[in-house]
Amino acid sequence: MKLNFYSLSSGSSGNCYYIGNASRGILIDAGISERSIRTYLRKIDVPMHSIMGVLVTHRHSDHTRGIEVLVRKHHMPVYTTLKIWGSILTPHTQLSKDSFREISLQQRFDIAGFEIEAFPVQHDAPETIGFQICASGKSITIATDLGTICQTAASYILTSNLLVIESNYDEQMLTDGKYPAFLKARIRSDRGHLGNHQTSAFLAEHLNSHLTNICLAHLSLKNNTTQLALDTLHQTFSERGITVNGNPQVTVLNRNVPSDVICLIE
Ligand SMILES: [Zn+2]
Ligand SMILES: [Zn+2]
Repeated sequence: MKLNFYSLSSGSSGNCYYIGNASRGILIDAGISERSIRTYLRKIDVPMHSIMGVLVTHRHSDHTRGIEVLVRKHHMPVYTTLKIWGSILTPHTQLSKDSFREISLQQRFDIAGFEIEAFPVQHDAPETIGFQICASGKSITIATDLGTICQTAASYILTSNLLVIESNYDEQMLTDGKYPAFLKARIRSDRGHLGNHQTSAFLAEHLNSHLTNICLAHLSLKNNTTQLALDTLHQTFSERGITVNGNPQVTVLNRNVPSDVICLIE
């Protein structure tokens, strides 16, 4: 069975990822409009009716903006925890309860042949989760929006072949930037976001032979650049004597432009 990964959008203004095989797929988060999702999926010849559900990591609008229309127009099932589902509902969101599929932390569930587990991460939302999606012995882990990498999250991250991990901010840009002090502190906190050095140091320390693809994700518009995220990773690797040479393959996911499709299983 094929296992393809495609980023439709990644960053603090909207996150949405597609994981699929030849006939079916799932979305992780829908932080962009339904129209953009449809347009970006069309580029890779994936029709909306082959999407079997959307997995939701947490309530922040850069992850949930498009969900209401996906549910209304496409009757798309929403897979998340009861707590996150409750946090998404507001007096203004019209989400039919029929679309909700409750999942439990660290308990496997299946959608269209994919084996999936959600794991908890620390972030400033009522609850935030990451996902590991497996098929035919290969696994993809999505860990964006986390202030620190706790042991549980690490256990999923370290058993993945393709890892989508946050590299949100450059520490110096955040320090020098115009954000108010409270916001800078929030971003840096254990319940905020991972900075370039944090992510790079973690990866350099834990690099293993299963990990064939690293996708740096959820870059801040104001406090990071693609080049800085990439340079920090390469510099940290070289300081630790790690030579990459294309294995793992490192990609920085773009904010507004979909990525290439990464085929984990041809
Ligand atoms: Zn986010
Ligand atoms: Zn968030």
